[in-house]
Amino acid sequence: QAKTLGRGRHHFFDVGLRERMQRRLRMEQDLRDAVHDGQLWPAYQPVVDLRTGEMVAVEALLRWTHPRHGAISPAEFIPLAEESDLINVIGKEMLRATTRELAARRARQGLDLTLKVNLSTRQLDDPHLVPAVQDALASTGLPAGALCLEVTESALMRDEEAAAEVLASLRSLGVLLAIDDFGTGYSSLAQLRRLTLDTLKIDRSFITGIAESRDAEAIVTSIIAMAHAVDLTVIAEGVESAEQLELLRALGCDQAQGYHLGRPVPAAELFGQ
Ligand code: C2E
Ligand code: MG
Ligand code: MG
Ligand code: MG
Repeated sequence: QAKTLGRGRHHFFDVGLRERMQRRLRMEQDLRDAVHDGQLWPAYQPVVDLRTGEMVAVEALLRWTHPRHGAISPAEFIPLAEESDLINVIGKEMLRATTRELAARRARQGLDLTLKVNLSTRQLDDPHLVPAVQDALASTGLPAGALCLEVTESALMRDEEAAAEVLASLRSLGVLLAIDDFGTGYSSLAQLRRLTLDTLKIDRSFITGIAESRDAEAIVTSIIAMAHAVDLTVIAEGVESAEQLELLRALGCDQAQGYHLGRPVPAAELFGQ
């Protein structure tokens, strides 16, 4: 009896696993096609200076419009791309496309904006990353100082030594560096200082409760103080209300980003045709 049940369970488990693997393989193949068919495109979200209220930067966020399934979230397909070499291909194309866009906007419209591009863990391991960044800048003419690369706190802390080395090479190109989703990992002040970053982005999870919870406010206050102590510009991400925005301004946060200020949209929608 027990044996039958056991075998039955085993069988059931296998089917679920096989289905999940097939789904993943299918999605990975779809993602490969997406790269070639131009289904991937960058959305841009404004980053606003809290003193002047002006847009000072834009973050490029990858979008996938699947021919049958519609919009697929990067939270779903980036991890998939990271399991293969696809992330490096996609990441390089993202760099090329967004630096080209921003360089053109600077030339045509005189827009003096910093471009923020996300890098994944796998990209930090790619020996072609630094030359690819250099190439994107050289071929588009975007000044290095107008590009800020964002790396998540968890990616940086995974292999601190190796990450520090890549960041130093990137920095020598003249690009700016940001630590993304700060507060979700366990980095110390000493580590932050060693990495010589320019910007710290406070994770959305701390901003969400800031207007209602004393604890959230205290945490954000201390992150801002800590970041300023090591000369980092602080950006709050996920600002969804005017109250949150006012509070962040009062706390001395430098810049903010979030649906309240502007959603990620196609370039033409943000900058005009
Ligand atoms: P992230 O870099 O922390 O980007 C911020 C995310 O928060 C974006 O999600 C953005 O759309 C979302 N967001 C912005 N403001 C608000 C708000 O007020 N409320 C809420 N609820 N969400 C807000 P998205 O576009 O889904 O991207 C998710 C993550 O995927 C990004 O987090 C980033 O880690 C990764 N990602 C996106 N594009 C790329 C890329 O080109 N390369 C790599 N390696 N990763 C990327
Ligand atoms: Mg980011
Ligand atoms: Mg973030
Ligand atoms: Mg995030």
